[in-house]
Amino acid sequence: MYLKELRIEGFKSFGKSAVLSFPTAITAIVGPNGSGKSNVAEAFRFVMGEQSMKSMRGKRGEDLLFNGGTGANRANRAKVSIVFDNTEQLLNSSFDEVSVSRTVYRNGTNEYAINGTQVRHRDVVELLAKANIGSTGHHIISQGEADRILHASNEERKEILEDGLGLKLLQYRRIEAEKKLRRAQANIAETDLILRETTPHLRHLKRQVERYEKSKKIREELLHLYAVYLAYETTYLATARCAAEEEYDTLQERISGITKAITKEKKKAVSEQQVAEMGKQEKSLSDALRAVRDKRDVASREIGRLEGERAALQRLTKDAKSEPIDREALRRLYKEVQHRFMTADEYGAVITYALQQLQAMLGRKSAVQQEAEKQLAHLQKKQEAVQEQMSALQKEEQQYACAQEALHTRKEQEIAVARQSEKNELALITEKNTFEQTLAEARHTLAVLREDEENIQREMTEGAVLIGSAINNYKSVVVPQEAQDEDREKQKERRRLLERKKIELETIGAGGDNEEIYTEYQRVSERVAFLQTEKKDLLHSMQDCEEGIKTIQKEVETRFKAGVQAISAEFGKLFTILFGGGRATIAIEKRTVAKEGEEPEMRVGVAVQVALPHKKISALEQLSGGERALVSIALLFAISQVTPPPFLILDETDAALDEANSRRYGDMIESLAKQSQLILITHNRETMHRAGALYGVTMGSTGLSALLSVQFDEAVRVAK
Ligand code: ATP
Repeated sequence: MYLKELRIEGFKSFGKSAVLSFPTAITAIVGPNGSGKSNVAEAFRFVMGEQSMKSMRGKRGEDLLFNGGTGANRANRAKVSIVFDNTEQLLNSSFDEVSVSRTVYRNGTNEYAINGTQVRHRDVVELLAKANIGSTGHHIISQGEADRILHASNEERKEILEDGLGLKLLQYRRIEAEKKLRRAQANIAETDLILRETTPHLRHLKRQVERYEKSKKIREELLHLYAVYLAYETTYLATARCAAEEEYDTLQERISGITKAITKEKKKAVSEQQVAEMGKQEKSLSDALRAVRDKRDVASREIGRLEGERAALQRLTKDAKSEPIDREALRRLYKEVQHRFMTADEYGAVITYALQQLQAMLGRKSAVQQEAEKQLAHLQKKQEAVQEQMSALQKEEQQYACAQEALHTRKEQEIAVARQSEKNELALITEKNTFEQTLAEARHTLAVLREDEENIQREMTEGAVLIGSAINNYKSVVVPQEAQDEDREKQKERRRLLERKKIELETIGAGGDNEEIYTEYQRVSERVAFLQTEKKDLLHSMQDCEEGIKTIQKEVETRFKAGVQAISAEFGKLFTILFGGGRATIAIEKRTVAKEGEEPEMRVGVAVQVALPHKKISALEQLSGGERALVSIALLFAISQVTPPPFLILDETDAALDEANSRRYGDMIESLAKQSQLILITHNRETMHRAGALYGVTMGSTGLSALLSVQFDEAVRVAK
């Protein structure tokens, strides 16, 4: 026994909660008309997820809620729970008892729960479908609905049979697989569309990225070239500037030194006035010298005259001698005196000497001689005076001559010094000019260096545009000491390479912002790769779905075919029992339906064929009400026998049966109850008789259905 309990709260006429236990195989629910018996059957439909309001005799969800009665307020919700014994694992749950409940609120909201946990409608349907409690409700036969299976079209009947055969779960799976397939197809189409849109973009991006990669490589090379070039250039400029400034300062110092030296030399030069002054002094000295010389000449002539006079006197004194004059001695004296006179600087001594010699020669003096000697002495004195004067003059002359000489020498020296100074000044000016020229050159060098420094700054700004802040990497490049004196040609060569690289980069035209394209390329290629993988997965999933659908389809077809055969055989047997003969079968029927403008569609259905005993009736429409009820019961029971549902609810299926048929019906129920639990809503005594438990439903004047467990006799009474 699978069905344990049904709890109803606020559902339809059950304003007060009611609990029905199902302890036996057959439970009968009896009660007067309108007491709420069918509401119990509907409560089963409701809790099992019925979506059709019509099959629950309502229009809106609200109609399912208790509307109020005498002394009872209307319910805000209707809740029905069904409890299964799951010890035999009827349902796919590890619990021994499984309760399924559904609640509907006045606003039409529905809630489902399995063992108190809120679930979706689908979860309930799937859980029950697995236990062959299908959604078509073939195991809940509502009042007057028994022959629905006969009324139904072949295709509808096929559905009922599939449900009865427990194929619905497979059908669900197939529908799910088809949905999944359609989703996969739609996703593939969408993926294809995106791929079609994305692929050219990716190609474009790839080209850009290749260009970017190339430009990145060039930028890296450029970075290296810049680093080396700038390191060498800045080092060179710093060193050159230092040297140039040093040279400039040295030159300035030298020039100012030379300027001072020139000033000094200039000071050494004698002025024309000084020369003229010295000339004047020289002239006056010369005049004085000439005057002294003139005087000396006069004195000399005086001396000469005095000499002459003395000589004459001396001759006179000599002539006065007795002794002849030794001519030879005289001649020698003459010669000697002449010689002395010629060589002497001073004539006085010569004269004195000559006189003494002559006197000695003369020897003896006469009166004349004495007179002469007096005269001579006088002359001597005069001569000595003159001689003295002469000596003084000579001294003076000498002094003047000396002074003149000294002045001349000084003048000459001064002039020489002045000339030397001029020469020096000239040399200094020449040197200064040379230095000034060198200074100008140094200034020019500094200006060129300044220009070079400005250029390098410009170069760095330009470089920063091309390679960004990495331009400053040059600061970490170490320039070897020996390389600082390298040939500038090498640096020029570096510059040429740098320029070439810059042109290369500019030609490629991929600037710094292309990092974004790279990221975009990464993103798009990842997306494309993802889409391709997804497409592959989707294709696999599609394949799986197709295969799954085929497998399910095949299984459904096989099981359906076998099921229909088995039901048909059972149907035939039950039919013969109920009608006491005759023949009844069901068969799969296929027909092609062609709608305008659409492909012809193959429809599969199940046809019912009956042949009543002793009657020539083949069309179902020709059967009487009772006959129809019996055929329906035979078919429904046949289905239930082939694949017994855990429970079967029959709402007054036996209403149209006469006594004999009621008995046969009762027999069939008993045989059915061996496999399925039966809940029978009935007024039929025979049926009540077969039930192990009986519930009476009463309503009275309150408008509220009430449930009570009753005994057979009571049931018969209640049912009336
Ligand atoms: P019969 O034997 O004639 O088939 P029954 O016992 O099967 O009768 P039901 O059809 O189950 O009776 O019950 C119908 C009763 O339920 C009616 O009296 C109706 O007024 C009542 N009913 C239906 N819906 C509601 C509702 N929402 N609130 C209160 N009562 C309701």
